[in-house]
Parts: sequence; structure tokens; C-alpha cells
Amino acid sequence: AGDEVITIWLATGRRVPPASLPLSVGVVVNNVQTLLNVAAAVETQTAVTQRTLTINGAVAEPITLTLPLGTSLREALALAGGATVANPAFINGGPMMGRLLASLDEPITKTTGGLLVLPSDHLLIERRMRSERTVLNQAKTVCEQCGMCTELCPRHLIGHELPPHLIVRSVSYGHIASLSSVTAALTCSECGVCEAWSCPVEISPMRINQLLKAELRANGVRYQGELGPVSPMAEYRLLPVKRLVARLGLSPFMHKAPMQEAAWQPEQVELMLNQHIGAPASPCVEIGQRVVQGECIAQMKGGALGAALHASISGVVSQVGSRSITLVRE
Ligand code: SF4
Ligand code: SF4
Repeated sequence: AGDEVITIWLATGRRVPPASLPLSVGVVVNNVQTLLNVAAAVETQTAVTQRTLTINGAVAEPITLTLPLGTSLREALALAGGATVANPAFINGGPMMGRLLASLDEPITKTTGGLLVLPSDHLLIERRMRSERTVLNQAKTVCEQCGMCTELCPRHLIGHELPPHLIVRSVSYGHIASLSSVTAALTCSECGVCEAWSCPVEISPMRINQLLKAELRANGVRYQGELGPVSPMAEYRLLPVKRLVARLGLSPFMHKAPMQEAAWQPEQVELMLNQHIGAPASPCVEIGQRVVQGECIAQMKGGALGAALHASISGVVSQVGSRSITLVRE
């Protein structure tokens, strides 16, 4: 569900070519929250100052809340009644594509996906903790070249070249099927299907693709392959969600997380200057200055690509740093 290319194919039948944007087939994909934010910006000139997110997993009261940007994830967890396991670990976003959080002191940003709480020895945490070296050694030692990662790769199924089993082979043994089969790593969506579902021996072609992508991009390499035919098996190889949940060991952590409408105001918020694509915003407030909710506190300078930042609570500017601005409620 996290790969917009597959969402577009399922919803419209159109196929986005490899290394292309959805716009190339006349489609733009936005989540509901973005559309609401666009409507508010256009109709009432309201800036984005809050984020709706779900706090779920090993928590006392799974919940969906709308919180001011800059609220710490620690406070968000407390609002969900706290963790119910002794050694919790945290994922920002969903179980397939979410990122392991180093600290709950991270503030909520415009792109925070949600807070998933799991025991620290859970499979999904353990996989994210694996070092690059372990991932590569595991691939070299136990890949049996069964090809399941390619057979079930959603992008491969809709006609992209992307062949994870050949990429794993190239990285492990230097056996390069073709240059394009390796550079096709650039077209991996990091959906996690190969890691979470396909591979029978716990290898992560996705992680190998991530490593390759970083290296290829650093060297300015681009992928140039064409779109091939759709696999006749594509529609029969969609993942059954209930089985995926069971396979990921998530069944005990799947709860309804009802929306709570009551507004909640933190004592302090830390607003990151870089919550968007492009350059960070430049502060336009000073320490000690009073601001009201919605007021602009950082702007883009010199026509750089980015987004202005607005106060998410009314209060006083207590800190202006190179990465963030802190506001304290009066
Ligand atoms: S599914 Fe696993 S074992 Fe099979 S080819 Fe892919 S990485 Fe190798
Ligand atoms: S993460 Fe794996 S399954 Fe998903 S697109 Fe990349 S190679 Fe394919």
C-alpha cells in the first residue's frame, strides 16, 4: 500500500514507467491529510501546524490524535497510555516501510507517519537493527537464488525490470547479469515485500537495494530501462493482508485506534526547519519574541525550493537553532 506506483496500477490500470513520476501517466497521488491541508491553504490561507497520527501496537490505549507540530513523540506515547511492554522500541510509520526511531524525543513533523510501539526483540525491530555487514553476509551465505523475491516483487510484476534475485547475486558474487539489472536497484520502492514476505531465508534484497541506491546516486548513475509487459500472474500475487500481519508477528498488536477529537496543547514544541523537500527554512523570529499560532516563524530565502514554517502553538520563542525553533507556551 505504500508504493504509489502499485496504487496507481490497481486504481487506474495505468503503469508508471521505471524511474518516472506518476505525472508521466497523468496521475498525482496524495494522502487524505495532504488534500485536507491543500484545501485549507487554498480556501482559508491556513498553514500546516498540526498532524494527525495513530499511536498503536504495544500501548495501553491505541488512539488517533491531531497534535501540534513539534510535540515530542514521548508526549504522544503518554497520551496513548504509555507502552505495555518492558522494553519498547518504536517505528515512525507503518510496519513495512516505517523507520526505526532512535529516540522518542524526536518532535512530530509534517511527515511523521505514526507511532508503532513493539517489544525490542520483535522481528520487525530486529530486522531494522541488523548492520549492513550482517545483511550482506547473510545474502552471500544463504541466498539460494530461488527467485521468489523477483517473482513476488510488485514492481517487477507490473513490467519493471527490477530483479532483486539478480541484484543479490551481483552484490554477493560480482556476477553481473547486465548493467541495467544492477542499476534497476534505483527503481526499488522499498516496499519491503521481498524482505517481509518472499525470501524464505531471511535475506533482505530491499536493504541491499538501499545500499546500492546510495552508491549509484553518489556516482550520478541513472536507470534507463523501458517498461516491459505486465506479468500474467500480477493480479494473483497480491499479498493477503491478514496473512501478512500474521507473518510479521503483528496479530497481538493490531488494535482499533479510534480518533480522539479533543484538542491537546503541549507546554513546548520544537519545530524542525527542514520538514520538506529542498532546503531548510530560515528563521525570521528572535529569542524572546511572542508569536501566535499560525504566524510565520521561518521562510524560504532566495527563491530556494522548500516551505515556510508556522508556529504550531501561541507562546514565546525560547530557542532558535540551526535545525529547529523552540516555542514555549505562556
Ligand atoms: S528470495 Fe531470498 S533466497 Fe530467494 S533469490 Fe531472493 S534473496 Fe535469494
Ligand atoms: S522492496 Fe523488494 S519487493 Fe519491494 S520494490 Fe524493492 S525489490 Fe521489489
